[in-house]
Amino acid sequence: MAKNKHKKTESFDFNGGWDYSPSPESTSHVKLKERYELYIDGKFVAPDSGKYFQTTNPATEKVLAEVAHANEADVEKAVSAARKAYETVWSKLSAKERGKYIYRIARLMQERARELAVVETLDAGKTIRESRDVDVPLACNHFFYYAGWADKLEYAFPNRKVSSLGVAGQIIPWNFPLLMAAWKIAPALAAGNTVVLKPAETTPLTAMLLAEIIHESGLPAGVVNILTGYGDTGAAIVNHPDVNKVAFTGSTNVGKIIQKAVAGTGKKLTLELGGKSANIVFEDAPIDQAVEGIVNGIFFNQGHVCCAGSRLFVQESVADEVIRKLKDRLDTLYVGDPLDKNTDIGAINSREQYESIKKYIEIGKKEGAEMYESKCSLPKNGLFIRPTLFTDVAQSSRIAQEEIFGPVLTIQTFRTIDEVIQKANNSPYGLAAGVWTDKGSRIFNLTTKLRAGVVWANTYNKFDPTSPFGGYKESGFGREGGLHGLGAYLKIEN
Ligand code: NDP
Repeated sequence: MAKNKHKKTESFDFNGGWDYSPSPESTSHVKLKERYELYIDGKFVAPDSGKYFQTTNPATEKVLAEVAHANEADVEKAVSAARKAYETVWSKLSAKERGKYIYRIARLMQERARELAVVETLDAGKTIRESRDVDVPLACNHFFYYAGWADKLEYAFPNRKVSSLGVAGQIIPWNFPLLMAAWKIAPALAAGNTVVLKPAETTPLTAMLLAEIIHESGLPAGVVNILTGYGDTGAAIVNHPDVNKVAFTGSTNVGKIIQKAVAGTGKKLTLELGGKSANIVFEDAPIDQAVEGIVNGIFFNQGHVCCAGSRLFVQESVADEVIRKLKDRLDTLYVGDPLDKNTDIGAINSREQYESIKKYIEIGKKEGAEMYESKCSLPKNGLFIRPTLFTDVAQSSRIAQEEIFGPVLTIQTFRTIDEVIQKANNSPYGLAAGVWTDKGSRIFNLTTKLRAGVVWANTYNKFDPTSPFGGYKESGFGREGGLHGLGAYLKIEN
């Protein structure tokens, strides 16, 4: 029978005997400033607090630059600049002109794509292959896509009356810093709103480069304001009474705080929170492709992905084969210098996140699951974790229930379709899922029964600006991307 024809002895020793030559991306074209100020009302200004904090490269833990810590007074200035720009310029401008600015930002980002990719890799620890081939092009595409909608809002929502909301407060996380900024800013501008955005404290640099690009584009002062800072800066934006819309991507805990804070204020809210997504492999799946999809699902961006396929469910009849092939594949993954083009898995974003992942690995071992980690060597310095998987995982186990946000996969088996639907849905989260099978009917059956905002079939982690993204349950509400993402920045009436 085909299913068990591969025996243990057929494993390949990928790590024996040869290696890639180093292929580091040059950083010579990047000139980081020693200090980055706030971008308010079209100017780069010192923070009211006079305080700055350091941002480091997680691959070396060396300081890259200092960034400003915006306090409530800075938030006040930014929101009033955004309000003034909204009332006097942006809402008065023709939609066609608004679209031109957004196109211009996209083109300028493309021109500085290499610099953006290198800085993203330095600041976030993600591999250069990913920043160069995924994050930066997708971020540009979001601006291009929404630029196209700016003067077509009445076609986007036919027979409805649409109007902009006003000032949007946007708070973004550290896992896709530039891309999340694009997801937030592009639809807000296309819909006619002005923006106050706060990047995460560990990854502020590409947001500050984006501020430079926006400045260079000639966008009227105050239309986009970028404030670096900590959680208190984010909270001040959320709580500001003159903010009309809050868009947040980050942890479920902070999402809950924000939801409480805006309750009863009339502010429109979208929350894109955590996840613990199921990736399901049936026995009729193309196993080799599924193994690639599993690897991409959990190890892409070091597993710092809200929709990471962190819970793998494999049909019992093919479980041995899938797990053996996965272990083989894990051993081929390169963990190391994020700037090296051979690297598959870069650095963990921060020491705090590193400790948190390590803690979960220990929890998994203590809970009795069997751990396997790749045999690869790790750099002596910096924050690196080997790709890790756990088998013999119980459904109730913490590593199967809680978001680890790192390169750690839990594996469970199932026999029937009903069983896997129950197991996959048995989670407080509902962001994404993957299904690997030969049968279209099974895919359609599962997509209607899995409580997940996005279900990928025979693929994983595919993103496109035209496609809405968002979750159920504790993964949040509202959608970003596509027309749904545009609607989140509009008042839509009959
Ligand atoms: P947070 O939710 O704390 O941070 C997200 C953003 O919110 C950051 O810009 C943060 O600022 C800001 N923030 C923090 N507190 C507040 C507040 N009270 N009001 C408004 N804004 C606030 O995520 P973490 O960075 O701490 O990551 C913790 C966990 O969250 C991860 O382990 C992961 O599980 C999950 N996560 C999920 C993401 C997703 O895409 N769904 C993305 C990132 C994290 P600052 O950076 O200064 O704290």
